[in-house]
This record gives sequence, structure tokens and C-alpha cells, in this order.
Amino acid sequence: MTGIDEFYSTLKRLAETISVSGSEDWIREVVIGLLKPHADEVYTDALGNVIAVKKGAGKGRIMIAAHMDEIGLMVSHIDKNGFLRIQAIGGWNPLVLPGQRLLIRGEKGVVRGVVGLTPPHILSEEEAKKIPEIRKLFVDIGASSREEAEEMGVRVGSVAVIERSVERLGEHRATGRAFDDRVGVAVLIHAFAEAEPGDVDLYAVATVQEEVGLKGARVAAYRISPDVALALDVTIAADVPGVPEESMITKLGGGPAIKVMDGRGGSGLLAHPMVRGKLEEVAREKGIPYQLEILPGGTTDAAIIALNKEGVPAGTVSIPTRYIHSPVEVLDLRDAVNTVKLVAGFTESITGEWIEKVKGSRIL
Ligand code: ZN
Repeated sequence: MTGIDEFYSTLKRLAETISVSGSEDWIREVVIGLLKPHADEVYTDALGNVIAVKKGAGKGRIMIAAHMDEIGLMVSHIDKNGFLRIQAIGGWNPLVLPGQRLLIRGEKGVVRGVVGLTPPHILSEEEAKKIPEIRKLFVDIGASSREEAEEMGVRVGSVAVIERSVERLGEHRATGRAFDDRVGVAVLIHAFAEAEPGDVDLYAVATVQEEVGLKGARVAAYRISPDVALALDVTIAADVPGVPEESMITKLGGGPAIKVMDGRGGSGLLAHPMVRGKLEEVAREKGIPYQLEILPGGTTDAAIIALNKEGVPAGTVSIPTRYIHSPVEVLDLRDAVNTVKLVAGFTESITGEWIEKVKGSRIL
């Protein structure tokens, strides 16, 4: 059973590693190191997904995916005075960027930068009201010429994230960057370690490039051909001042969120009713509090896994998180360890017979 402190230390280690979509090589090594002691087999693929297998009786395959990439920035230009211009990788709110410190992955190691901004003293009222555009922001790395910036190892194409450590917040909560989806990866690792799959073989997959179009999950599902799948990801907890209760989606401390639907108008995932039902059944049996989630925008790896080959019954378990896609994401560690319990319990409850039923394919 994973405790809060043990979980927190895994989360901290994962969320403080830079892992922009398409540049997941650093975190990949950390994840392999954490999964390997519990796996019968671990392998990677051409896009960089990590796949760990724990063998059961072979009466089916369950795939559980969590993405190890995070939204980030890419250097698009270095001007003659040594200032950088940047472009977004993934869905940014540009409001969070001005005034931040960045960590840039240069060719000679990590370089620190700051996102510069015009002092309020010389802004007109009109200018002060404007939402910044990412392409107009500039990054100061302490260089005074392009040559000096390049000498520091920064190149067009170098990726960057906001510099932010993971810290405890109050007794049960934590704050940091990239809990989307390092918390999912941490749950995946702990649930994989705990679960004793009976009838089915368990495939834990740390996917790449989710934030830029669910790409890693798509190819991993093709290779694994799962009979049933789960994605683990964060979901919106808008339980903050100014948001009416019916618009909060989920609440921190209310337990794991079992997904019903996501994407605009259901265009993401409509969770398979039997997968969702089984998750609820396991939660009730084990006394795990849970909430049902309907997310009107955004989706997870489960949406693409569900469409693999002839189709895969799929669901998602989400960890409620505030301020997603900002450097101050906040979650409740009790929700996270309860998600570990739920996911391990779900895996153990899957039988060969249930797989046949859930796939529901008939020849008439
Ligand atoms: Zn995510």
C-alpha cells in the first residue's frame, strides 16, 4: 500500500524532471528505473513510449496509460542582442508566462532564462490591459549577443519549461509544475508495483506526446492490442472562489474522478459503461471515495486507445487538479493514493470472462 509521503517523493522526482513533448528522454530513464524492479519485461518503441509488462494468466491484456510529456516552450529565434523568442508546445495560457524563470535544455546542459516584460511605469493604460501573445514575449538568458547565447549551448529548437520545484501545500496537498501528467505517471508506477494481475496481463505504458495530439498512446495501443484500457490523467478541479458549484467539474479531496465523458460534446471519450461501472464497483467494495467526471473540453490518451484496430473498451481515472497548465498546479495527495488503490484493484478484478463480456463481439 502506497503512503502519502512515499507517493509525494515519487511525484517530486518525476515533476522536477524536464520533459517537453518530443523531448522525453530524461524522464524516460527515471520511469524505466522505477518500473523495472516490478516488471517481467520493459521495452521502449520508436516514438519513445515505455511499456512495462506484468504477466498474469494471459486471458487478456489490460493497458494502462499515463503521459510523461508536459507542455513547454521552444526557442524559435535568437536575436543579435542575445534575446530569445519562443513558441508554445501544447496548450498554454499566455497569462502565466511574463515574469517567470525558465529552464532551457541547451546543448551544454540546462540554462536559466527569464521571460522579460515592460515595467508598468512606461505602459499606457491600453497596453496594460492586453493579454500577451507568446510570439511577442522575449527571454533574457544573460547573453548580450547571438554568439554568446549559442556559446551557452542555446539553439533554435532548444526546449524550455518554467522553473518550479514541487512543494507540500498544507497538510495533504502539493503544488508544482507538470502534475499534468506526472501525477498520472506516479499513480501508474505505484499501481503497477502493487497490482497482482490474475487472469490478464498488465501493460503499464508511460506515453509520449499526449499534449500535442495523443500520439504516443496511438502507436503503443497498436503494438499491444489491449482488450481493455484505462488512461490516468489530471482533470479540472475548479473548486475555487468565483466558480459556481455546477461548474467545478471535480473537487480536491473528493477522491479519484471516474470519467463519464470528455471533449466538447463528447468528442473526446465516452467511457465504456462496463469499464466505468467496474471502476465504481471496485471503489465501493474497497471503500474508496470517488466522483464522476464530465469534462466539457480536453481529453486523454483513452480517447485514441478506444479507437485502436477494431475498438477497445476504455475508461479514464482522473486526479482532480487545480490550475492545470500553469506552474502552480495543486492536488490533494489523498486523492492520488486513493487512485493508486482504485487502479490496482481494477486490474486485479478483471477476469477472462469479463473481458469476453465487455468486448461484446457477436457473430449472428
Ligand atoms: Zn494530461
